[in-house]
Amino acid sequence: MSMTKSVLISGASIAGLTMAYWMRQYGYKVTVIEIGPAPRMGGSPIDVRGDSLDTARRMGVLDAIKAAKLQTKGLEFMNADGEVEGMMRVEEIGAIRPGDDTEIRRDDLVNILYGNAKDGISYRFNNRIIALTQSEDQVSVTLSDGSINLYDFVIGADGIHSGVRKLVFGPEEQFSHFLNFYFSVFPVDVRLGKKNYGQMYTTPTNLVMVYLYNEDCADGFLAFRVNEKINYNRNDIEAQKRIVIEAFKDIGWKVPQLIDELKNADAFYFDQGCQIKMPTWTNGRVALIGDAGYAPAFPTGMGSTLAIQGATVLADAMAEVADYKVAFQKYNETFRPTVDALQATVYDGLSFLLPETQEAINIRNKGSR
Ligand SMILES: Cc1cc2nc3c(=O)[nH]c(=O)nc-3n(C[C@H](O)[C@H](O)[C@H](O)COP(=O)(O)OP(=O)(O)OC[C@H]3O[C@@H](n4cnc5c(N)ncnc54)[C@H](O)[C@@H]3O)c2cc1C
Repeated sequence: MSMTKSVLISGASIAGLTMAYWMRQYGYKVTVIEIGPAPRMGGSPIDVRGDSLDTARRMGVLDAIKAAKLQTKGLEFMNADGEVEGMMRVEEIGAIRPGDDTEIRRDDLVNILYGNAKDGISYRFNNRIIALTQSEDQVSVTLSDGSINLYDFVIGADGIHSGVRKLVFGPEEQFSHFLNFYFSVFPVDVRLGKKNYGQMYTTPTNLVMVYLYNEDCADGFLAFRVNEKINYNRNDIEAQKRIVIEAFKDIGWKVPQLIDELKNADAFYFDQGCQIKMPTWTNGRVALIGDAGYAPAFPTGMGSTLAIQGATVLADAMAEVADYKVAFQKYNETFRPTVDALQATVYDGLSFLLPETQEAINIRNKGSR
């Protein structure tokens, strides 16, 4: 009988790919399933900060991450007429390790982590868990392709709307704390941006950003505040586009051109702003990592850092102690203070990105010159 322990990881993104690398390093038989046909691309630039830089070094990917570092110089605050009212240099934007923190395209980070977690790891795309039952010794998992397999552990790294969380811990509503905004990200014509800058235009309800990283790559980012949740089908991209178009119909600056780009965008990401808060991230032989367990929401700028760190703390604990129950407990206890402290910063981030009054917008824009 083989003594090699097996782990199934659901979700091939920042958290799942980090976990896959470590579990393989620690001698596990690793299977990763992903609902999409490949690791999902798209999204605005993300930050690799603080301790996750040390983790990236340990994983052997720090040089690749540094090589893909965006040469962003700063963020310009625009008015409706397209004039620059103020700017922040990139070093002033919430640095944890100034000069070392690295802003990178989400696609690049996913590709680097995927490239680093290929050898000896089995990937099954277009797949998701549809049933899961645990015994004292194993977890039995049924996948959407009809296969049934036994694993020693299952790790849910499947994001804010985690399927593993729903099956093992309960409905999303129990853990999701809505922050009264929605956001979308999509590629746009480079002529709409300014090279190596993010440009931002804000009204008391709407946030518009355009990032241009190099000659051939720009993204639009649109966020808006709401009083109530909007009902929509998460599989219906056209319906989501209509929601964004409606929310931005009266907004100036470059919004009409951005909306034209959005209408034609293939890579379009839309979601609610929310945090996931759970009393525990483990249940039996199942554990959650990344956004599935503790999404901090984008105004913290820490989603990827938390995902990389959480996966690593859990994997290290599983490697350190033979009893998985002790390891899971250690993960729950040691990572909790980091998560709580980071999640608490979301309101500062939100009032910076989406100030609620024109007066507050003016102070942010002009006060920062
Ligand atoms: C396309 C995309 C764009 C994003 N854009 C931004 C952005 O602009 N700003 C921002 O702050 N954050 C964005 N995020 C979220 C950001 O990636 C995470 O906050 C952070 O990096 C933590 O990563 P994660 O691996 O925990 O979760 P995610 O990056 O959300 O990854 C979850 C993975 O699980 C997969 N998945 C989902 N459900 C299932 C299922 N039932 N079974 C199997 N696999 C499943 C998804 O396809 C995805 O690959 C984006 C995420 C995605 C997927």
